[in-house]
Amino acid sequence: MVGAGWAGLSAAVQLARAGRRVRMLDAASAPGGRAREARLDFGGGPVTLDAGQHLLVGAYRESLALAHLLHDGAAPLDRFALALHDTAGLRLQAARLPAPLHLAVGLLRARGLPLAERVAMLRLMTALRGGSWRAAQGETVEQLLARLRQPAALVERLWSPLCMAALNTVPEQACAAAFATVLRDTLGATRAASDFVLPRTTLGALIAGPAERWLRARGAQLHWGTTARAIAPCAGGWQVRAGGDEPPIDAAQLVLAVPPHAAARLLAPLCPDATQPGSRVGRLGEFAYDAITTVYLAWPASQVPALPRWIMLRESPSRGEHGQWLFDRGRCGAQRIAAIVISARARLSDKPVAAIAEGIGRQVATQLGVPPPAAMRTVTEKRATFRCTPDRPRVEVDAFAADLPGLWLAGDYAWPDYPATLEGAVRSGRLAAARALRRHADTDVAHVQAPITLR
Ligand SMILES: Cc1cc2nc3c(=O)[nH]c(=O)nc-3n(C[C@H](O)[C@H](O)[C@H](O)COP(=O)(O)OP(=O)(O)OC[C@H]3O[C@@H](n4cnc5c(N)ncnc54)[C@H](O)[C@@H]3O)c2cc1C
Repeated sequence: MVGAGWAGLSAAVQLARAGRRVRMLDAASAPGGRAREARLDFGGGPVTLDAGQHLLVGAYRESLALAHLLHDGAAPLDRFALALHDTAGLRLQAARLPAPLHLAVGLLRARGLPLAERVAMLRLMTALRGGSWRAAQGETVEQLLARLRQPAALVERLWSPLCMAALNTVPEQACAAAFATVLRDTLGATRAASDFVLPRTTLGALIAGPAERWLRARGAQLHWGTTARAIAPCAGGWQVRAGGDEPPIDAAQLVLAVPPHAAARLLAPLCPDATQPGSRVGRLGEFAYDAITTVYLAWPASQVPALPRWIMLRESPSRGEHGQWLFDRGRCGAQRIAAIVISARARLSDKPVAAIAEGIGRQVATQLGVPPPAAMRTVTEKRATFRCTPDRPRVEVDAFAADLPGLWLAGDYAWPDYPATLEGAVRSGRLAAARALRRHADTDVAHVQAPITLR
């Protein structure tokens, strides 16, 4: 197993559950991948936070099941009914009714949205449901919203921030089909699927740390700080060569759970057509990426005793205020910490980080009526997600299995209907593990396919 993000960890857990011996390596010094921890100091000593603020939703059934498995059924997660609130008075909350009434009644009762916009939202959801949640070939989110006559104010206030949050891609470029799939599995599914789910810990303490302990307890050999430099078929299995003096690692099968550009580098020497346009390796290299910036703000807790658990901020490019969502991270010692998310960050590439952070401080102070933060720290993940455009490559976990038997891909990109998400990563890992297990005649496939039960 190469790569210990959520895709690799998900695959490893499934393989270990089925009694397979797992050997896993990751270039980073700890598992977690893009959902890793960061130690930040706001002046009162280091605090452990996420390298990027994430949001899970009820539709993430595999991720939530994995979390519960690793925490003996009691994962540290808070679940909230869907609530879209913004700092300009929008209050849209799912009603305690079965779907689709939860949303319809929630929309009827919504505050801060003119009737015409609520009707337009219902029109969009009804039209998408009636069309089996499909979009036109090559359609962008901007085109979809225009086709379904969404008012400009609603697009600016709701659809555009939702699109950027879910797809990390601006509506002009974002894939309407992927957006429709996200709406189908959240707002368009059961009431529980649209819940917001927030860890009470870091993502590292939710999955990566417990997965590491769980795997070690089952005899897995885990090598961190070890970069795979080359992979090669050998003696009916696979060999992974790391740099330096590291001995090669032999395995019966190989799950390559690294981002697509890293997979392309490792696979190119094995695929004679790698440099041909449209080849499978070539397609892995065709993913484009966008960044996400998380700005953490800290106040003395006495000054800001409470904040909304999350709220949508009003972005104002003309005032240099680009924050989109605020999440309260709670108290850390004497400080209160909030995370502000800026998605599709490439659109602001000409703006210096300091100017963006300054704009956020101002934005939060004016929109939430809190004092300016005492300290701010910014984390930007340059390749946060692939850009979810209609023409992005579509790659399945078994894309190379016909020519390279026993080699499986896993990663958010290998769950092609979804944008880059934790859930896509976990599902792809689980599928890669299932494929690996099925390849062995003596494997108890039924075991890995049995769903992890949520308690
Ligand atoms: C700031 C930010 C915010 C996000 N917000 C959300 C959100 O709210 N909701 C959501 O669902 N998703 C969100 N995402 C996306 C989510 O984090 C990713 O989709 C998911 O973590 C991808 O997991 P992965 O296992 O596919 O890849 P990764 O996490 O990238 O894991 C790949 C691993 O492979 C390792 N690796 C690479 N090359 C090698 C090599 N040659 N040898 C050994 N190891 C190697 C890397 O070190 C890494 O650990 C966000 C991402 C970011 C960055």
